Amino acid sequence: MSEIKVSRDTFDEVMVPVFSPASFVPEKGRGSRVWDTEGKDYIDFAGGIAVTALGHAHPELLKVLHEQGEKLWHIGNGYTNAPVLRLAKRLTDLTFADRAFFANSGAEANEAALKLARRYAIDTFGPEKIGIVSFTQSFHGRTFFTVSVGGQPKYAEGFGPQPQGIRHLPYNDLAKAVEAIGPDTCAVIVEPVQGEGGVLPADPAFLEGLRRACDKHGALLIFDEVQTGVGRTGTFYAYMQYGVTPDILTSAKALGNGFPIGVMLTTEAIANHFSVGVHGTTYGGNPLGASIAERVVELISDPTVLAGVEARSRAIKAHLQRIGERFNMFREIRGRGLLIGAELNDTYKDRAKDVLNAAAANGVIMLIAGPNVLRFAPSLIMPMADLDEGFARIEQAIGQLVGASAVTR
Ligand code: PLP
Repeated sequence: MSEIKVSRDTFDEVMVPVFSPASFVPEKGRGSRVWDTEGKDYIDFAGGIAVTALGHAHPELLKVLHEQGEKLWHIGNGYTNAPVLRLAKRLTDLTFADRAFFANSGAEANEAALKLARRYAIDTFGPEKIGIVSFTQSFHGRTFFTVSVGGQPKYAEGFGPQPQGIRHLPYNDLAKAVEAIGPDTCAVIVEPVQGEGGVLPADPAFLEGLRRACDKHGALLIFDEVQTGVGRTGTFYAYMQYGVTPDILTSAKALGNGFPIGVMLTTEAIANHFSVGVHGTTYGGNPLGASIAERVVELISDPTVLAGVEARSRAIKAHLQRIGERFNMFREIRGRGLLIGAELNDTYKDRAKDVLNAAAANGVIMLIAGPNVLRFAPSLIMPMADLDEGFARIEQAIGQLVGASAVTR
């Protein structure tokens, strides 16, 4: 087969323009390092947006990919397969849940969760109980139901009439949420740490209060752990460190370490409100994705991996503290485990993207969460030497940015 020549410019020629990717084109990854098509190396603090929790090209995952690749990739849901059953067993053993539904993404896992909550409430209490309580700045995916439930109206507007019965309340404001949760509420959906919304951890009392209000009114509590799940915050799921158990939990991103897979987990009693044919998917739970996810779950649930998350979290926060003091840069450094945000102060207002671009020029891939928050979601097993070198590069990048600002202003 002859190879077609492409470059970053090809993106603008052939892709639907919903993304604005960086000027370089990543080509290869190993652990926490990435190389672009020019051979330049980058230290990766983004992990493909909290996805590659075991780094790039993890040898154990490559082994499973090859072994399962030789056996069976896909069979369709008229049949089950051993990898998906083993994966479901592992996830239900690890969590509160008794049942799993597999999908291909976070949005699809949330779509399933919201549909199940509606079905459960309508079956159990009647057609009026359709209210969904969500929170401003939340993000739950890009299907029409999930953008409508998400708390960032710009993603839901301009597509015609939205699903009804959805309310958005301020995050971490328990009094307002309790006031909104009533007999008509079928579900409350919340991220234990808002990721896209700015890396905002929930107050423990907020989640505890939501649990009580849901119990009082027969509403289901849905934790969207698409970003916080699979070890990201230092426990396998964040709900485990909050001590608040949801009725439905959604997980994706790191679950496949880059192979697309999502899951909705729930109890037997709730799951029984989905019967054969009520919901479905072609690819969800295919043997290739499931075998990779099974090994991811096995590797990340290892207590030494989870303990390593805390060590790396402390190291990143210490670097940010030092850099923040040197350049007088941050209003707040926050987050749990390896989902960390550094909010810029007024001096650097709206300049998160400038920092990201300067970091890329200096060989670092990082993330932002809105115009004012630098976000870090690296591999949970990032080598400490890469972490330290990455921050040396970030410090150099910020030095250049500050110097450049001083000249241009
Ligand atoms: N939920 C949360 C909390 C997320 O952070 C995301 C993605 O960023 C999603 C859902 C959507 O996941 P996906 O992009 O896999 O559909």
